[in-house]
Amino acid sequence: MTTTLTDYYQPGWRAQCHTCAACGWQGSSRQMDMELHDEQSEYSCPRCEFPMLVVLHPDLAGIRAAAAAGHPEAIEQLAILDSVPRP
Ligand SMILES: [Zn+2]
Repeated sequence: MTTTLTDYYQPGWRAQCHTCAACGWQGSSRQMDMELHDEQSEYSCPRCEFPMLVVLHPDLAGIRAAAAAGHPEAIEQLAILDSVPRP
């Protein structure tokens, strides 16, 4: 089973332990193979490449909301986004 995480700012998901449904490997997202897409990050089993975790990326409104709520990572991301000049 692939876990889909819709709230990127949910605390602790990176350290959470997952079990691979295909081969039984256990570990956190830090140990998985990560593939970055525009809309989401996909984490797969380092042993058999079974997709274990899909993390949907927050949109700008989501980042702003999380930053307003005091989430340090969101504040950082917002600072990066705001430093990019827009046409
Ligand atoms: Zn596996």
